[in-house]
Amino acid sequence: MKTIFITGASSGIGKATAKLFQAKGWNVIATMRKPENETELSQLEHVTLLPLDVTRLAQIKSTVAKASSLFDIDVVVNNAGYGLMGALEAFSDENIVRQVETNFLGTVRVTHEFIPYFRNAKKGMFINVTSIGAHTSFPFTSIYNGTKWAVEGWSECLSIELSMFNVGVKTVSPSATKTELFSHNSDITPLPFYHAAEKKMLGMINPDSTPEEIADVIYEAVTDNKDQLRYFAGKKSKAIYDRRQEIGAEASRKELKKLYFDGLGLENNS
Ligand code: NDP
Repeated sequence: MKTIFITGASSGIGKATAKLFQAKGWNVIATMRKPENETELSQLEHVTLLPLDVTRLAQIKSTVAKASSLFDIDVVVNNAGYGLMGALEAFSDENIVRQVETNFLGTVRVTHEFIPYFRNAKKGMFINVTSIGAHTSFPFTSIYNGTKWAVEGWSECLSIELSMFNVGVKTVSPSATKTELFSHNSDITPLPFYHAAEKKMLGMINPDSTPEEIADVIYEAVTDNKDQLRYFAGKKSKAIYDRRQEIGAEASRKELKKLYFDGLGLENNS
């Protein structure tokens, strides 16, 4: 039986991924900040819950040590994350640091802790959940997108580095999905100068994919035996990526400015 280790498995894409792999006959280590609150995964056979806050280095070390002492781990899914949303100047330094520590450094640190284990085993795979926001640009999610661009670039470098030891690195980039991703912004006070533009942008987000659809692509990435870095997931991801490839980064940026800001009576929007 193969074993998969998943971060952020308490909800959304992480939980759907845990359930899918369990249903496919895998042994699942579902990690989350508060395993004591989990009532669904804890009922499933071959699912082990372990505590993991990816911003806590000591806990990363202890949980990876515990997991690898219990099971022979084949795959690590770096999924934990949240979406900081708002104008950059509305964020406190603490908001910014927490977003980077969770989405980027959390992924790096969990991976860093697992590398010696996979290198010794001469096998293993990291799946890093990024976003379509890692391949294009949106206003009012600049730090979030920045962390996801960082994870994409870092993953590409690492996929070359770790191929020396038969260890794979892949990314899965979802488009808008029905989850709690952007529900952690209650401490951000919106600034009046951005109000109309933020409202328009928020109205354009249509989370039309399900966590289960994204989990299917993670399963494909884990099992297809292909030497492929990027996987697009969700109803719009590939189309958004292809449009930017088709017209180029500069034209794409101009097109997005028009899309988000036309009709708002803003200056300098050509
Ligand atoms: P959810 O909010 O439903 O799930 C996020 C998970 O990450 C939760 O389990 C949450 O745990 C966990 N998490 C947050 N902070 C930490 C932390 N410090 N340590 C450990 N776990 C943490 O959102 P999604 O399922 O959508 O998000 C999963 C991934 O998918 C994220 O990386 C996100 O960026 C990515 N994604 C999502 C998209 C979407 O539209 N939903 C689109 C593109 C990418 P807790 O319950 O404790 O808060």
